[in-house]
Amino acid sequence: MISEFDETLSELIKAEEARQARVLRMIPSENIVSDNVLEALGSVLTNKYSEGYPGKRYYQGQAVLDQIERLAQERARALFGAEHANVQSYSGSPANMAAYMAVCQPGDPIVGLGLNSGGHLTHGRNVNFSGKLYDAHAIEVNPETELLDYDAIEKMCLEVRPKVMFIGTTSYSRAFDFERIRAIADACGALMIVDIAHVAGLVAAGAYPNPVPYADIVTMTTHKTLRGPRGGMILCREKLARDIDRAVFPGIQGGPHMNQVAALAVALKEAASEGFKRYAFRIVDNARALAKALVDRGLRIVSGGTDCHLMVVDLRAKAVDGKTAAIALEKAGIVCNFNAIPYDPNPPRHPSGIRLGTPCLTTRGLVPSDMTRVADWIVGVLDEPDNQARIERTACEVAEFLEKFPYRH
Ligand SMILES: *Cc1c(COP(=O)(O)O)cnc(C)c1O
Repeated sequence: MISEFDETLSELIKAEEARQARVLRMIPSENIVSDNVLEALGSVLTNKYSEGYPGKRYYQGQAVLDQIERLAQERARALFGAEHANVQSYSGSPANMAAYMAVCQPGDPIVGLGLNSGGHLTHGRNVNFSGKLYDAHAIEVNPETELLDYDAIEKMCLEVRPKVMFIGTTSYSRAFDFERIRAIADACGALMIVDIAHVAGLVAAGAYPNPVPYADIVTMTTHKTLRGPRGGMILCREKLARDIDRAVFPGIQGGPHMNQVAALAVALKEAASEGFKRYAFRIVDNARALAKALVDRGLRIVSGGTDCHLMVVDLRAKAVDGKTAAIALEKAGIVCNFNAIPYDPNPPRHPSGIRLGTPCLTTRGLVPSDMTRVADWIVGVLDEPDNQARIERTACEVAEFLEKFPYRH
């Protein structure tokens, strides 16, 4: 027991659990895993080295581990309707690195969404390997509608002739037209890679479009809406299976974290349940209800709304920037992150927006009718970010409200 062996650390873990339980956790990339997922993560599987793949390992003693990895692969293929699944990526970024390495050479042209349009660092940012190794070109949303403009994307891709279209986001709240993206990829001779890190759980449940029928490769994290352990996963067509597997190991990684793979198998079984389907649809219902409540209170949602679990809120109508707002909101028991809006006129350290998501709130058990209350708390803080008495009162109200929603499940 850590509580007996290391009281200092034990108290810190308890303090963090208490913090998570008493605040509205609205960072869209976070979630709350089940105790079953935690149990697998904390199992003796962490003791084992399993370099290679089932039936083709470089260490002995794999009889059980092979079965565990095959179980995770089978569940992943069935859940997403994929021909091949690699479940070994340590996280989302290495999964993306493997996807590039499987099909690109350094210097190849690639396109991905720009950061302020919702793209991730690994979609071609200059500070990231993807922007250093490849000739990256950024797709930006239309400045008027803040939506993807597929005609403009097609025009750009016909000029750039990318080897890969790397499509996915961390903050674009609208559904992608994967059929159209496939057509553009075909027209310009590119491979289509879709990164569903954020929406994987929604895709699994049918609450968001599934790119698997269209894309050559689909990458994801397993710890966001999919509600599994921290990790990454790659799905692909059978003809790319060998290249993907070789890119993950030995291309990038050594031994897989088999406790993580087992925890993923648990999460995939959970995600195939009827209860998880209802959960995923409720995440989206909650996000839509929250967006509407915020609009009703005078705020603007980037692109006008959401089709998924998240939204970026433009704060320029209030006298507060995103960072100041995020700090004040945390003091009030509402944890989110500051975020740029498309074509943000303000600097990256003090951008004009915050990003909000509903996966954690939905796991706790909140429903759409709770969102007006959540919006009242948020807008109250945004209206008076310096009113310490009000902020403290809000933190108490939030903690009291959340007492009736269990944290562990
Ligand atoms: C979170 C995220 C990643 C990276 O995942 P990590 O596990 O943090 O490495 C990659 N792509 C997208 C779109 C993401 O949202």
